[in-house]
Amino acid sequence: MLIAPYANEPFDLFDTDAAVAEMRGALDKVRTRFGETYPLIINGERVMTDDKLVSTNPSNPAEIVGYSATATQQHADAALDAAWKAFESWKRWTQEDRSRVMLKAAAIMRRRKRELEAWLVYEIGKNYVEASAEVAEMIDFTEYYARQALTHVGGLGSLIHYSGEENESFYIPLGAGVTISPWNFPMALMTGMTVGAIVVGNTVVCKPAEDTVVSLSKVFDIFEEAGLPPGVVNYLPGNGRDVGSYLVAHPRTRFVNFTGSLATGAAINESAAKLAPGQKWFKRVFLELGGKDGILVDETANLDDAATGVIQAAFGYSGQKCSACSRLIVVDSVYDALIERVIERTKKLVVDEAKNNPNLGPVCNEMQYKKVQSYIDIGRGEGKLLTGGKGVDAPGYLIEPTIIGDVSPTARISQEEVFGPFVAAIRVKDFAEGLKVANNTVYGLTGALFSNDRERIEIARREFHVGNLYFNRKCTGALVGIQPFGGFNLTGTDTKTGGPDYLLQFMQIKAVAERL
Ligand code: GLU
Repeated sequence: MLIAPYANEPFDLFDTDAAVAEMRGALDKVRTRFGETYPLIINGERVMTDDKLVSTNPSNPAEIVGYSATATQQHADAALDAAWKAFESWKRWTQEDRSRVMLKAAAIMRRRKRELEAWLVYEIGKNYVEASAEVAEMIDFTEYYARQALTHVGGLGSLIHYSGEENESFYIPLGAGVTISPWNFPMALMTGMTVGAIVVGNTVVCKPAEDTVVSLSKVFDIFEEAGLPPGVVNYLPGNGRDVGSYLVAHPRTRFVNFTGSLATGAAINESAAKLAPGQKWFKRVFLELGGKDGILVDETANLDDAATGVIQAAFGYSGQKCSACSRLIVVDSVYDALIERVIERTKKLVVDEAKNNPNLGPVCNEMQYKKVQSYIDIGRGEGKLLTGGKGVDAPGYLIEPTIIGDVSPTARISQEEVFGPFVAAIRVKDFAEGLKVANNTVYGLTGALFSNDRERIEIARREFHVGNLYFNRKCTGALVGIQPFGGFNLTGTDTKTGGPDYLLQFMQIKAVAERL
């Protein structure tokens, strides 16, 4: 199999008129398809239901992007049946053949890039660059795992020869599992979690977040067009509390791959740990949950670079990334100077409907809108409002980028995940105290240090306890194949998506000895 070495898909910065015009064209075209209804996909068959999920545009919630069929527990049973049936043949495909389907899917995604980006702009409020980065990441996961799977063929190397026997150890897939994806990176994360499992021979039932049913329906059409056999992936939009919980607890679910909130992840972990009657295995559970990610800035840092990194990490996609900077921890002697720069830049940010390509689009839905507002209220009581602080007078869920200053490291807004354009700034005495504050959270996903002190950088390298640590740059935007992504502590199981070991988690090892 002769394929190009893996390389990250470039994303567009939309800094040319031609790229912007192309995106506007795609947005217009996609708009003509608003209001369509998308089915469940079980065993390759399209299934419509009387009940529907409604997906609206967060920039203008009166606008319906599309409707989706909504799965019941009976559909979940049928989807698991289909996944187990497909597993029997899919697991026997050669690795090259399975990888080839993924490469084909990636090629189709690439051809349909602008259209896919446009759906993200309308359905979850990404601006053009964020939408482009997400589609590029979806392509990256697909390309990377297709290649990575080929490296696991032939089993484990470096075992020791034992006299009189022939020994080997090799990987086999687990079976049929469930992937449940969040609304903030629907295409990239559902695709990554799903491709990672299926490329090595598993099959899955995929439950998307309710806000993303149109975007993901497009992705599952692509898998089919690429030649994925029926039942290898089954697309099951539905209510999380009903169908999602049912799938997690189901005795025939072999593994659960979930990205989302800490509360839901903890409930999934508990439910999946219970042995249901008839269950024959311990489920593997993969969790990528929240973050309370800190950027620490010391007195040796370049403050302009730090201010830029903070703005990018805190307000990119309106702070709705588990990797987003939500705590800005600054050494006292440069606190005022840095905050001044950050405020100056924040005030220039444009908040508008996503289709107009602002710096910040809306937050994703009404629940998030209310949640961020309530944390702004809490923040007013816990510190000093430095900038922002209110919703924008518009039909969509637009919120000003908000910074609360002089917050205690143990305040609620320093500890609880907000998931919006909202930062708590914390003043610390020195680097050592800053590092302690940075680590003072139940989470452990990303973090950054802006410093020019070599010794401190090395201390932080060892002691800043996060899964993804960055020096002198933003703490968002991990790249597939370059920065394996996943966090410590209650952030989850540190699955390290986009890393060389990711696929091993979806396999088990069989050791075989033959007496000669
Ligand atoms: N991987 C993304 C990043 O590095 C974040 C993904 C997420 O928010 O779930 O920024």
